[in-house]
Amino acid sequence: TEQTIANIKATEPTVDAFITIAEAEALAQAKAIDEQGIDPNSLFSGIPVAIKDNILTKDILTTAGSKMLHNFKPIFDATVVEKLNNAGAIMVGKANMDEFAMGSTSKNSYYKMSKNAWDQTKVPGGSSGGSAAAVASGEVIASLGTDTGGSVRQPAGFNGIVGFKPTYGRVSRWGVIAFASSLDQVGHLTRTVYDNAAMLNVLAGADHRDQTTSTREVPDFTANLNGDIKGMKIALPKEYLGEGVSAGVRETILAAAKQFEALGATVEEVSLPHSKYGVAAYYIIGSAEASSNLQRFDGIRYGFRAEDVKNLNDLYIKTRSQGFGDEVKRRIMLGTFSLSAGAYDAFFKKAAQIRTLLIQDFDNVFKDYDLIIGPSAPSVAFGMDYTPEDPAELYMYDVLTIPSNFAGLPAISVNAGFSEGLPVGLHIIGKAFDENTIYRAAYAFE
Ligand code: GLN
Repeated sequence: TEQTIANIKATEPTVDAFITIAEAEALAQAKAIDEQGIDPNSLFSGIPVAIKDNILTKDILTTAGSKMLHNFKPIFDATVVEKLNNAGAIMVGKANMDEFAMGSTSKNSYYKMSKNAWDQTKVPGGSSGGSAAAVASGEVIASLGTDTGGSVRQPAGFNGIVGFKPTYGRVSRWGVIAFASSLDQVGHLTRTVYDNAAMLNVLAGADHRDQTTSTREVPDFTANLNGDIKGMKIALPKEYLGEGVSAGVRETILAAAKQFEALGATVEEVSLPHSKYGVAAYYIIGSAEASSNLQRFDGIRYGFRAEDVKNLNDLYIKTRSQGFGDEVKRRIMLGTFSLSAGAYDAFFKKAAQIRTLLIQDFDNVFKDYDLIIGPSAPSVAFGMDYTPEDPAELYMYDVLTIPSNFAGLPAISVNAGFSEGLPVGLHIIGKAFDENTIYRAAYAFE
């Protein structure tokens, strides 16, 4: 842990992955483990990990990347943090992120701009950009992120590491600052597929404090990692390599498809015809849920409180005006509007109908196939200075990851190679609660 902290301090000027380095707490935890002795039955005993800053850590600053929570120290650990603690993992710090997990670059953080581990002129992706840069730069071997529309898989892809979003309900969200509750999942980032599967063994399982968690049995996710995927049926949707996907990304994914065939799987082209409507529906549903979830940041209950206020209403207005950044305000306004009586039918209801169509697209393909593959993002990491005038331009980059959040499906991003000198993520989507098949394929591919 001492070496890890020293290495983080030496590496931070390059990647800026952390909002908080929990040095004293980590050393105390490590000392306790030294005294008890490493648990030989827990792979994570004594292993330093990073946690995204929207996941509650008892007595340790948890900002969600926002000024709104600049002074917020939670009074309890999230379930996922508790589980890592129980496994002996050592929490060394809180990773930078887009404010309230809204963004694809980590540039929406109030605190700092994290950098891509491969090229510091490029974004690390987002919103879990700090979690990805911390693993890819060698600061830690694993981290937690959250994924509402791709926020674990896209930064994993941009940094050439492994990022996983479990089936909705597989991992508890208790103690995770909510963005869009019907889409949010805690995901995790590692350097290898094996580490990733082993970490899901620690994180998965029912939690009475999160009523959306599943009581299904949790298998051993490392059990089938033997490299054998003969006979596996893989679908490659033509929409996932269509317009907007860069030539280098397309070539890399087609080469990955060939590699799966060489390993004895079949890869066939299929269609997910409603894919192109996913982004529009996501920014309505995700923002609607966010507008509701973020009502709790009122200047009374948590964190930042504006000064010089005239009355309660003025306190709310000034606190929220000063405490939230532009992107968060944009989502709150969009979400509030689309839920309003006059706009509901034209926006929220339509988006919910599109969500159903996207789920049906997946159901049709999964009747005949075990997995669906494609790129994790349409391009490699873009430049730090890319700030489109129209924010919707950036939203389009989420087109490949959003559908699996809508359907609650598990999905992974693993490195598939390089284009323009930067990593390309291969995205593998599986059936609900069939994380094992994803890990088997990703392990054989890696
Ligand atoms: N980029 C998407 C957004 O801005 C996804 C974010 C996420 O998964 N948390 O909403």
